[in-house]
Amino acid sequence: MSSDPHAEASLGSVLKLERDGAAFFRRANAIAADPRTRQVFERLSRQREEAARMIEAAAARSGVRATPAPGPNPYPFEAIAKVECYACGYVTEEIPTSCPQCGAARYAFEREFTKAMIWGTALASGRAVAEGVQAAIPHAKGELRAALETLLERERALLKEAEGELASANA
Ligand SMILES: [Zn+2]
Repeated sequence: MSSDPHAEASLGSVLKLERDGAAFFRRANAIAADPRTRQVFERLSRQREEAARMIEAAAARSGVRATPAPGPNPYPFEAIAKVECYACGYVTEEIPTSCPQCGAARYAFEREFTKAMIWGTALASGRAVAEGVQAAIPHAKGELRAALETLLERERALLKEAEGELASANA
């Protein structure tokens, strides 16, 4: 049992990164035009969601309080907060079934994401998560530590993938 404030703080910022990431990639998935891009966002969102649940479950069983705490924010939420009709420029928050201003179909509001945007966000968030997890590991014991080590492995795999995608996008 631990009530180590350092452990709880570092765990809290990792948890916030995972929760924010799940929300960010879910939103990006909802407004993306390209099916392959949506698949990537769907996977990234699921990975963040699973990681958050894993941390919460392991922390609960280890008697450590895990509450999302402020920390770095690698997710450009403001860039995906609004959608815009490409036909008439009407701006709104959720994609309508058709544009209330010009009648264009819903796809007029869907967004193209560049590889730099997709994988740049994956890379920036992956680095922040890996850093937070590394900071949390020395304070964690038993099952919680094992969970964090698993997360670190996964995050490193994601970082490698993101670096590869970005390198091929710039090639
Ligand atoms: Zn319109």
